[in-house]
Amino acid sequence: MVKGYEGFSRRKFLSNAGKIGGASAVLGVTGTMGLFLPEETIANAEAGVNTKKPGKNSHYMLLNVRLESGYKYENGLVVSTETVLRNLQITNGKITRILDTKATYNKNLDCYDAKGMLLLPSFRDMHIHLDKTYYGGPWRAAHMRKNGIFDMIALEEKLLPELLPTAQERAEKLIELILSYGSTYARSHCNIDQVVGLKNLENLKKALANYSDKISHEIVAFPQHGLLRSNVEGLIREAMQLGVTHVGGLDPTLVDGNMEKSLNTMVQIAFDYKAGIDIHLHEGGETGIKAIKLLADLTEQAGLQGKVTVSHAFSLASLSAGADEEMANRLASLGISIASSVPIGKGVMPIPLLQQKGVKVLLGNDSITDHWDPFGIGDTLQKAHLAAQLYGWKHEYTLSRALSLATGGITPLDESGKQIWPKVGDAADVVLVPASCSAETVARLPKRAAVLHKGVLASGSLEAVN
Ligand SMILES: [Zn+2]
Repeated sequence: MVKGYEGFSRRKFLSNAGKIGGASAVLGVTGTMGLFLPEETIANAEAGVNTKKPGKNSHYMLLNVRLESGYKYENGLVVSTETVLRNLQITNGKITRILDTKATYNKNLDCYDAKGMLLLPSFRDMHIHLDKTYYGGPWRAAHMRKNGIFDMIALEEKLLPELLPTAQERAEKLIELILSYGSTYARSHCNIDQVVGLKNLENLKKALANYSDKISHEIVAFPQHGLLRSNVEGLIREAMQLGVTHVGGLDPTLVDGNMEKSLNTMVQIAFDYKAGIDIHLHEGGETGIKAIKLLADLTEQAGLQGKVTVSHAFSLASLSAGADEEMANRLASLGISIASSVPIGKGVMPIPLLQQKGVKVLLGNDSITDHWDPFGIGDTLQKAHLAAQLYGWKHEYTLSRALSLATGGITPLDESGKQIWPKVGDAADVVLVPASCSAETVARLPKRAAVLHKGVLASGSLEAVN
């Protein structure tokens, strides 16, 4: 038990269990199939252009896709990546057959030609704020601040109500943006505060429901103005009943002024709703490290192993050699992941060490363009590219492995070069890129030609051949 931390035992967790139901299923919308063709489709048909595209529950062939099949070694070192061409059958959102291009297949199915482009697992933006952005509106740079985060909180009290009328529309534009870069999965933080209450959440949920065929998601109820400081425990608990998957938190010492109470409250809410946790922890140095250590202890006590993420976690950059390994081992043993936007210019995050010790590292764009930061472009692959530059991963093998940062850990080849993706039965969450291998994709950031989410064309285009 942590010093000064009493009355928050495993028994208390258990006694609170099941009081209120878990997070409800996220609302979805059912698409309707119109009997009348859009004018554009008629015009294309008259011009001989095939506008067919894979939709929900469709059954089709994706021909001539390039799959990675192994590493080529010279003198024990990986020098290139080998690939093969295959035809894939996709049924109800899953890859149901992987065929040699010479093998027979059902030609009565709709067929699309990937023209030899590389097939990769689609990307995952694991830290983004879809609910508040300038994107889609006039250009504005980040807000000047003299008093750090407190100036930003004061600004938000005025700004958030102004952004509310456009919140859903802009969230949808952001979803379109990240889809265009190949992300079919997003973990979005969503402000829960005394200014907008649950309104950002309502707008975000409507936007995500409109795109439920194209993107999967998680939502973090984020107390941006402080869980204790802005007294939002009640609002967060309300949010947890509206399809939120994770409880958020924010700098428990700097903002809330009471690390133990703040973390205890956050963990208790997560426990009560059987939800995950994803805390924004910007605090550097000692208080940041203390918070991570206490959160690790609470994670263990509450049985939340594998369900907790620390976002940013800048304090990890300040750990000395030895202490960093000890911390990484502790995080790995509890399945606590780290979400990073790959910061440059300040302390360098020990991402390679974390990965080496088995800590899951997730990447996100964070702010696309808002009052906090104007630089996010919405491309999670570009974040993996940035990591590769930052950590000197410039050779075939290290670049190839870096793809896992963008995909949430899925790679076509395992560390030894054995082909492990795709397999029959895998979700058809894929990106087609004009590149020869993962390494080239990470280094050169090719266009995302087609993006599929559960078999549905979510962005880009595919050429129909029948
Ligand atoms: Zn954030």
